[in-house]
Amino acid sequence: MPVYRAPVEDHLFVINEVLELDKQRDLPQFGELSADLLEDILTNAGKFAEEVLQPLNQSGDEEGCHYENGVVRTPKGFKEAYKAFSEAGWGALPAPAKFGGADMPMLVTLAVGEMMQSANQAFAMYPGLTGAAYGALIATGQPWMKENIAPKMVSGEWAGTMCLTEPGCGTDLRLMKTRAVEQPDGTYKLSGTKIFISGGDQDLTDNIVHMVIAKIPDENGQIHDDLSTVNFFMVPKFLVDETGKMGAKNGVSTGGIEKKMGIKGSATCILNFDEAKAWRLGPKPTPPKPGEKRSASAGMAGMFGMMNNARMGVGIQGISIAEVAFQNGWAYTHERRVGHALTGPKDPSQSADLEIVHPDVRRMLLHCRSFVQGARALAMWTTINHAIADSDRPDKDTGALLGDLLTPVIKAFFTDMGFECANLAMQCYGGHGYIRDNGVEQFVRDARINQTYEGANGVQAMDLVGRKLGRKGGAAPMAYLSVVGGWLGENEKDEALKPFTAPVKRGLDILQLATLWFAQHGLQNPNDAGAGAVDYLRLMGIVSVGWMWAWMAKVAQAKLATKPANAEFYEDKLVSAKYWMERMIPECPMLFERIQAGSATIMALEKATA
Ligand SMILES: Cc1cc2nc3c(=O)[nH]c(=O)nc-3n(C[C@H](O)[C@H](O)[C@H](O)COP(=O)(O)OP(=O)(O)OC[C@H]3O[C@@H](n4cnc5c(N)ncnc54)[C@H](O)[C@@H]3O)c2cc1C
Repeated sequence: MPVYRAPVEDHLFVINEVLELDKQRDLPQFGELSADLLEDILTNAGKFAEEVLQPLNQSGDEEGCHYENGVVRTPKGFKEAYKAFSEAGWGALPAPAKFGGADMPMLVTLAVGEMMQSANQAFAMYPGLTGAAYGALIATGQPWMKENIAPKMVSGEWAGTMCLTEPGCGTDLRLMKTRAVEQPDGTYKLSGTKIFISGGDQDLTDNIVHMVIAKIPDENGQIHDDLSTVNFFMVPKFLVDETGKMGAKNGVSTGGIEKKMGIKGSATCILNFDEAKAWRLGPKPTPPKPGEKRSASAGMAGMFGMMNNARMGVGIQGISIAEVAFQNGWAYTHERRVGHALTGPKDPSQSADLEIVHPDVRRMLLHCRSFVQGARALAMWTTINHAIADSDRPDKDTGALLGDLLTPVIKAFFTDMGFECANLAMQCYGGHGYIRDNGVEQFVRDARINQTYEGANGVQAMDLVGRKLGRKGGAAPMAYLSVVGGWLGENEKDEALKPFTAPVKRGLDILQLATLWFAQHGLQNPNDAGAGAVDYLRLMGIVSVGWMWAWMAKVAQAKLATKPANAEFYEDKLVSAKYWMERMIPECPMLFERIQAGSATIMALEKATA
C-alpha cells in the first residue's frame, strides 16, 4: 500500500525561515497570519490529507467514476470525504470572510492544496476547481451572485467548474462554437458542447455552478473565428434566483464521462448546453468602429484571471505527485534487498544489502527530493510576489512582473519534473513498480495530465517567450535578472556559500544570454522563438530553483552553526542543494546550445519524413 506523510516541517522551514513571513506582515491577508496559526492550519490539513484522502486514492483509481442514465457517481468514500472536507473549511481558505471564507493568502491555500493533492489528486480537483470558479465569480459577478451564490460554493454546498474546451478547440479558443444569445431580461440562452470538463457532473453537491466561455453573436447575428465577442458566463446546473434559491434543472446535460489514463476518481465530463440560462459576467462586447480591427473582448479578462490562478494550482500538482512518489520510492528502497554496495557489503549478516545502497538509486531519489523542496520554495516565493502585486507597497510593480513571468514556468517546469520524478520513483520499484497493486504506477498515470491541461506545456513556453519576455520593453526579465543577480551579488563574498552561489551565477549568466538571443532572433524569425521556447522555460526553471537552493543553503548553514538538535534536517538541505548545483545547473549550457540551434532543422520535418 502506498504511504504519504504530509511534509509540514518542510513547509514551515520554507515559509518561516527562508521567506521570513514575519517580514511580509504589511501585506493584506498576511497581517493576521501568525506563526502559530500557520502551523495549526498546515498540521491539521496534513492530518486530513493523510487520514481521510490518502486511503481513498488507490481505491478511487481502481473503481473510477460511473456514468449511468445521465448521472455521474464518484468512487466509494468520496462523498463522505467531500462532506468532511467542506465541514472542516478546507475549501473556504482563500475566500473573503464576508463570503464565508477564511481570507487566507494564496501561500496558505497552495501549501494546503499541495498536501491534499499528494494524498489524492483526483479528489482534490473537485474543491480545487470550485475554488477557481468562486474566485472568478467573486471577481466578476454581480452583487447578488457574490452574496448568494459564491458563499454556497465557498462552504462546499455547491461546486464549480471551468468550461473552456470544446471538441474542436482547447488551446485555440478562437475556434469555439458555443454561443450565447441575449434575452429581453438581460440573461442569455447558451448552447454548445464542452468536453473534458473536470467535475462537470458528480454526486458530491446539490448544484454545480459552471463558469463557461461562449461567443455572443455580433450586431449582425454572426460569430467570428476570433476572440472579439467571447464572454464569460455563469451557468448553474439547477437554476437559481437572486436570493440563491435553487429551482428547476437548467438546460445542461451530461453526455458521458471519459475513460482515461489517470485521475480516474475525477469525473471528466462531456457537457451539452441546450439553451441553458446563463448570466454574463464580463462587460458587453462593443462592436468595432468603422475601419477598426476586431480585438479580444474585455469579457476575456475574467477567464484569464481564473486561468492564472489555476495554472499556479496545476504547477503545485507537479510538486504534489513528485513528493508522494518520492516518499514511496524512499520507503521501498529501505525495505527491498538487492545486490551489494559497490564498496563492499553494508550488511554482511544478510545475503543482500538494502536497495538504497546503490548510487543510481540514490541519484533517482535525490533528483526527486531536490526538485520537490526547491520547487516548493519557488512556488511560495512566487505567491508572495502575487500578493505584493495586489498590495500598495512600493515594490508592487516588480511583484506583478515577477509573479506574471514565473507563472508559466511553475505550471510547465514543475509538471514536467513531477512526471519525471514519478517515473523515477516507479523505477526504484523495479518490475514491482509496473504492477498496479503496489500503487506507484498510479502516480505516473496521474502526473501525466498535469503537463497538458490548463494550457499544454509547450503553450506555456510560448506564453513565456512570446508574451512575457518582450512585454513593456522586457521589464519582466529585467526585474528577474536584477532581483536574482542582486541577491547573488550580496552573497558572492561568502566563501562557504560559493559552492551554491557560483553555479547559480553561471546559470543566470546563460539565462541572460538566452534572453538576449530571443530578443534578437525571435522578432527576425518567430519559428526560432517557438523552437527554443521549451528549452528556455526549463532553463529559467532550473536557474530559479537553483537560486532557491542557494538561499536555503545560506539559511541551513547559518542554522547549523548554532548546533541545532535537528541538525540532520539542515544537513539534508545542503545535500539537496548540492545535487541541484552539480546535476541540474549543468543542463543550462546544453539548453542554451539547443536554443541557438534555431528552427531550421525542426521546420524541415516534413521534408525529412516525405
Ligand atoms: C483529464 C482532463 C481534464 C480536463 N479538465 C478540463 C476542464 O476542467 N475544463 C476545460 O475547459 N478543459 C479541461 N481539459 C482540457 C485541456 O485543458 C485541453 O485538453 C488542453 O488545453 C489542450 O487542448 P486540446 O486537447 O484541444 O489540444 P490542442 O489545442 O489540439 O493541442 C494539441 C497539442 O498541440 C500543441 N500546441 C497547440 N497549440 C500550440 C501552440 N500555440 N504552441 C505550441 N504548441 C501548441 C501542444 O503540444 C498541444 O498539446 C481537460 C483535459 C483532460 C484530458
